[in-house]
Amino acid sequence: MQALSWLVVAALVTGCKAAESRPDEVARAPSAAPSTSAPARADAPSTSAPARKADAPSTAATPSPSGAAAVSPSARADAGVAWQLRCLAKHYDATVDGDALVTSRGERVPLRAPGARTLDERLDSTTAEDVFAPRYSVGPVAPVTDPGADPGRFRPTPVFRAVYGGTPAEVERGLVAVDFVGKKIRVHRRARPAFEAVSAKLAALVAADASLASWFEGMGGTYNFRPIAGTDRLSAHSFGVAIDLATARSHYWRNDGAKLVWKNLVPQSIVDAFESSGFVWGGRWYHYDTMHFEWRPEIFDPACRPDG
Ligand SMILES: [Zn+2]
Repeated sequence: MQALSWLVVAALVTGCKAAESRPDEVARAPSAAPSTSAPARADAPSTSAPARKADAPSTAATPSPSGAAAVSPSARADAGVAWQLRCLAKHYDATVDGDALVTSRGERVPLRAPGARTLDERLDSTTAEDVFAPRYSVGPVAPVTDPGADPGRFRPTPVFRAVYGGTPAEVERGLVAVDFVGKKIRVHRRARPAFEAVSAKLAALVAADASLASWFEGMGGTYNFRPIAGTDRLSAHSFGVAIDLATARSHYWRNDGAKLVWKNLVPQSIVDAFESSGFVWGGRWYHYDTMHFEWRPEIFDPACRPDG
């Protein structure tokens, strides 16, 4: 019953995305959002902003033996740095070298790649521009019908390897236990504040509406070092920054036939709770994965935009 009503709501709001007027920022539609979402969004994402100084790329903080000479070139370089590189450097402790991001392991993520690329090529070799294109939009849940709309699905994997770990042993050293709506889960310690924040919001939702509790039963889990089904790419679950809710009530694009038809049962209030805590939702993707939520602070940082 609950599920059916959400399907109806989702169908009714079809087309809301067409109202987006500012594609350069995370779109919001507070007038149509549930009352729980508006106050929570004011500080979204609650975990990333306080953690680091707003405009302090890690390059600027790097000590240099050359004294005064180290400050001014860094400042001059920052002025010309593409915002995507600046933003990824800020959130993932990387440095910028020309038109590329350099991780602490020395791996590079380019700003962009030449020529037209397929979706798989963009997923396999994600550039800094890919991470933010198309922009992720919050607001009313709506069917995704544009085959090019997978906002927040592109991951700069070398960056993730550097901060979370590149092997099971490395990632597992960073995992911590978190209470998540009454269940113990393991997530990467960097993502712990975000998981704790969303858990508190979700627990409040369940307290007000017991029917929502079923979304936290039979969950698909958090940490699991594995490739994405049908690919060689590491899943976000490999890094302990993603969670899958109740698998039995979720929808996944790979279970469709040749033609994808977006479907979803996840309630708006749960989506809002996650997004306002810095998590992207797989239900915003044409290649939908509705049980999947993934902590991506850079996607929600208001400073991560051309004029940020
Ligand atoms: Zn998942």
